[in-house]
Amino acid sequence: MKAEFDICIIGAGMAGATIAAYLAPKGIRIALIDQCFKEKKRIVGELLQPGAVVSLQEMELDHLLEGFDAQPVDGYALLHGDQRTTIPYPMHHKGMGLHNGLFLQNIRASALKNSTVTQVHGKALQLLENDSHEIIGVSYREENTSEIKSIFAPLTITSDGFFSNFRETLSNNEKSVTSYFIGVILKDCEMPFPKHGHVFLSGPTPFICYPISSNEVRLLIDFPGDQLPRKALLQEHLDTNVTPYIPIDMLKSYQQAIHRGGFKVMPNHYMAAKPIIRKGAVMLGDALNMRHPLTGGGLTAVFSDIQILSKHLLAMPDFGNNDLIHTKIEAYYQDRQHANANLNILANALYGVMSNNLLKSAVFNYLKCGGANAQESISILAGLNRNNYALIKQFFCLALYGAYDLVRDNSANLPKAAKILVDALIIIRPLAKNELSLGTVVSGYFKK
Ligand SMILES: Cc1cc2nc3c(=O)[nH]c(=O)nc-3n(C[C@H](O)[C@H](O)[C@H](O)COP(=O)(O)OP(=O)(O)OC[C@H]3O[C@@H](n4cnc5c(N)ncnc54)[C@H](O)[C@@H]3O)c2cc1C
Repeated sequence: MKAEFDICIIGAGMAGATIAAYLAPKGIRIALIDQCFKEKKRIVGELLQPGAVVSLQEMELDHLLEGFDAQPVDGYALLHGDQRTTIPYPMHHKGMGLHNGLFLQNIRASALKNSTVTQVHGKALQLLENDSHEIIGVSYREENTSEIKSIFAPLTITSDGFFSNFRETLSNNEKSVTSYFIGVILKDCEMPFPKHGHVFLSGPTPFICYPISSNEVRLLIDFPGDQLPRKALLQEHLDTNVTPYIPIDMLKSYQQAIHRGGFKVMPNHYMAAKPIIRKGAVMLGDALNMRHPLTGGGLTAVFSDIQILSKHLLAMPDFGNNDLIHTKIEAYYQDRQHANANLNILANALYGVMSNNLLKSAVFNYLKCGGANAQESISILAGLNRNNYALIKQFFCLALYGAYDLVRDNSANLPKAAKILVDALIIIRPLAKNELSLGTVVSGYFKK
C-alpha cells in the first residue's frame, strides 16, 4: 500500500519549513508538524550571511525575503578602542538583516500553500519503529484534541531545533553551552556604519549589532560562561563591560532600550554533528549541529544542508525504496560534513579569539590591513568560501601576524608572541579535530 506521505517533517522552524517550501512544489507529499505555527519574537537567525542568501536564490526562495522591511547588509565593521575599520562582502554579494519571526512566517506560508503539504498542529512525541527497528513515522499529541495520533512516512526529518527530543535516538552529539547572548532592540539608532554588521572588540567580551528593519538595530551582548545570567549579574555586566564601550552615536537608543528592559536571553551552543544513521530518519538544522552565533553562520549551514539533502532525495524516482533512501541519507551526512566545517570552526574559533586580548588585537590589526587576506577572511565568514585549507591558512596567518607585530614593536614581547601562537593552536585544534575528521560520521554510526 502506498504511504499517505513521502516525508514527515518534525518542526516547522527555519530548517523544516524551508525544506518543505522547497520540496513541496516538486510534488513531494509532506506532513509538516509543529507545536506552534504562530509568529514568534526571537533573537535568533536575524542576520543572513551572503552564503545563506545565495542558497535561497539557488532554491528560488529568495522572494521570501521581501515584504517585511528586511535590510541589505554590505559587510562588516570592527571597532576596537578608538580605531575602526570596515571589510566589504565580496562583490555582488549581500547579507540580510531581518526579524526572524516575520521571515519564518513567510517561509511557512510558502510551504503551506502547496496542496502536497499537510499542516499538523501538535507536539511530536516519539519516533515509531517497525520490527526491524526502522523508523516509520512519529506519534504526536494533537493540539486541539490532546489525542495521541501517528503519522507514517518512509522518511522522517527531525528538525525540532536546539532542544531536540530526538537526538538520543539519532546521534551521539555532545552539546555544550559556550556563553549566552542577551538580545536588545535599539530603536532609531545611528550605527557608526549603516548597512554593516558591527563587531565591538573594546570590552572584555564581544558584542555585535546589525539592522533588522529600517528603524531597528539588534544588539547581541555576549555573557560568558555556561550559567544563565541572573538579573543582578546581568545589570553588573552591562554597567561594567558594555555601557562604557557603546559608541556615542548609539548611546541614546541603547540607554532607552536598557530602560525599557525585557531583554531576551539565549544560550549559545556548540555541538558537532555526530549522527547515527538509522533507516527512515534524518536530522536537519540545530537538532543535528550547532555553532556559536557570533558569526551568524547558523542559517547558512541550515540552507546549505537543505540543498544537499534535497539534491540526494530528488535524485530518487520516488520514495518507494527504503534502501535507496538510506543510501541518500548516508550521502547527505558525508557531503554536509565538508560543506559546514568552515562555518563551524570559524564561529567557535572566532569566539575564542574574541575572549583573548592578544589575539583580539591581532585579528583587528590583521583585517585592518585589508587586501587579499581580509577579502579571503570575509568570504569565509560570509559562507561563500568553504575551502578548509583557506580557513586554517587565514587563522595561522593572523596569529603569526599578531606575534610578528608584537616582536617588531619590542623584542621583550617575545614571550607574548609565543603565547599568541600557542593560544591559537589551543583554540583551533579541538575544532579542526571535530569538524575535519572524515571519520566522524562513520565513528558516530559505530558507537551506538
Ligand atoms: C542567540 C542566537 C542568535 C543567532 N543568530 C543567528 C544569526 O544572526 N544568523 C544565523 O544565520 N543564525 C543565527 N543563529 C542560529 C539559527 O537561528 C539557527 O541555526 C536556526 O534557527 C536553526 O533552525 P531550526 O529549524 O533547526 O530550529 P528552529 O528554527 O528553532 O525550529 C525548530 C521548530 O521545531 C518546533 N518543535 C520543537 N519541538 C517540537 C516537537 N516536539 N513537536 C513539534 N514541533 C516542535 C519548534 O516549535 C520550532 O518551530 C542564532 C542562534 C542563537 C542561539
